[in-house]
Amino acid sequence: MIEKNNFLKKAFRRYYYENINKIYAPQRLSEREIGYLTFYPEKMIRHITLKNEGELKALLIHEAPKSVYYSTAYYDDPSAPINARIWKGADLVFDIDLDHLPFKETNMIFIYICNNCNSIFTNLDNKKCSSCGSEKISTISIPTKEGLEYAKDEIIRLMNILIEDFGISKDKIKIYFSGKRGYHLTVENSFYEDSDQHFRLELSDYLTLNGFKLLTTTILNRNIPINELSQIFPLPYEKGWIGRISKSFFENVIGIKLESPNDAYLRTLLQKYFSTVPYKELKLSLEKIIDEIKIRIDVNVTTDIHRIFRMPETLHGETGLLKKRISNIDHFYPLVDAIAFSQEPIKVYVSYAPKFELNEQIFGPYKKEEVLLPEMAAIFLICMGLAKPLEFP
Ligand SMILES: [Zn+2]
Repeated sequence: MIEKNNFLKKAFRRYYYENINKIYAPQRLSEREIGYLTFYPEKMIRHITLKNEGELKALLIHEAPKSVYYSTAYYDDPSAPINARIWKGADLVFDIDLDHLPFKETNMIFIYICNNCNSIFTNLDNKKCSSCGSEKISTISIPTKEGLEYAKDEIIRLMNILIEDFGISKDKIKIYFSGKRGYHLTVENSFYEDSDQHFRLELSDYLTLNGFKLLTTTILNRNIPINELSQIFPLPYEKGWIGRISKSFFENVIGIKLESPNDAYLRTLLQKYFSTVPYKELKLSLEKIIDEIKIRIDVNVTTDIHRIFRMPETLHGETGLLKKRISNIDHFYPLVDAIAFSQEPIKVYVSYAPKFELNEQIFGPYKKEEVLLPEMAAIFLICMGLAKPLEFP
């Protein structure tokens, strides 16, 4: 049997060698800290400075890393110890991951591997291996096409809020498929670049509606009788979250299409609705709207001003897919557009694989069998730890 990491490192190196003209450096590369994860022994190397794109390309071919990262911050000397560097600012960054979105069975497939006896399960009730009783279980999650579409909708909503509520121009926003379960959004060269951690925390609270107090707003104010509320309730075209909450309320609770209704008509609808629905029910439906429309970013990513972030156009070591820049999000399909490897068949031993899709081809399910798979699918399963290579391409 061929050693997995040896196989993957060779494959990653070949990819970088053959596609090195597709690699480009993030802006102001020499002011960023670079880090990478090696295949074996698996080790994180940090505090690297690269002077230019040529040095980056040389590193990718020479080291063939499992994953590559760059700091979102700019420093005077990125290779100095973190306390000895001068922080010069940082891009605004956002991460939308299926892990942080409400769970839906159609969005992700979970597989559990016992680290003690290698048994594989598709569901595990009490976090214990049902063969040997061990509690040392690794969980593998495979996003589905539907799941990635769901995450895509979330990143589009985030982009629109950054444009509408924060005045960030669209050309400063870059969106990427993360290479695994979600999307990244970065804003470079904006006037938010030198904002500190405190500002980024407030920004995150705004986006996630953390601390939003419904009962002190004009949406549902405790001190205003319900019959007067219909006159001050926000209308759908109002700016910011209150307009969005109102829009969702009219469309989904009152149930009208908002094409060209006039204000007086909307106020009449509200009055009628408020006079027939109990306060408790009204409050519940508004709370449900707020929970549905808040943006579920990973707050730790946005608020960490020293974070290292996966580098665009590099391979993700847990999937073999690319972190891919998206030019037209409406026509971006991650399980097609982020594929790096070829259609050349390779023989692999698959311990277990659910039915999965790559490049509009359906594979599996497989269980304890030798399979001839296109290189892209073979590497996907090997990276996930579900298959072992039986030959080199
Ligand atoms: Zn076990």
